[in-house]
Amino acid sequence: MTRQKIHKLVLHPQDENFALPSWDGLIARLREVAFLGDQIGESLGERLGNPLEIEQPNRFLVGERFLQYITFMGCSPAVESTPPTDGSLDYCHIHFSKIYPEVRFRSASQNVFARCPQCRKSIGNWAQAVSLWSKDASAVNFNCDKCAEPVSLTQLGWRHTAGFARLFIDVNSIYPQEAIPTDPFLSLLETQTGTQWDYFFTDQ
Ligand SMILES: [Zn+2]
Repeated sequence: MTRQKIHKLVLHPQDENFALPSWDGLIARLREVAFLGDQIGESLGERLGNPLEIEQPNRFLVGERFLQYITFMGCSPAVESTPPTDGSLDYCHIHFSKIYPEVRFRSASQNVFARCPQCRKSIGNWAQAVSLWSKDASAVNFNCDKCAEPVSLTQLGWRHTAGFARLFIDVNSIYPQEAIPTDPFLSLLETQTGTQWDYFFTDQ
């Protein structure tokens, strides 16, 4: 198994405690509007001669209208949406995470920006705070190392470099700021789930 870094655009509910009973309703809707294409599973893996794709639940090819929901910044986006034959997951497709019983924190591996809601500066001790919080979920409050004011981890501005949630939709093979969800797509997610959505970029 290769350990290459895969860059991703990750969508998640803004309310970190929000959870769906299952992905079924949202997946059905996203297939209907052609954001999603075929589910990647046994039959597709076999068709492509790609046994490593077998048994990867909740992965989908991009649908026919994917580019109407995700805007690429370049003038001619090169979206590689065909699974490589080596089994790599580094191609543009969509993965739905588990729906976790607890809130999870995900971020980029570097250049994470955490803005203090009090002094608006970049907090230097956020990673330490996340580490403490991951051992004790009640420990969301800490003191900003710039202004010393008490702040909550869930109130920080991450500038699309991190997020808290119990469920995530990963769009693989997208570099930071290379592509962003359109407002109508974020509205569609909100309408379908009854909660507002946000996004970040990560390489892990
Ligand atoms: Zn501060």
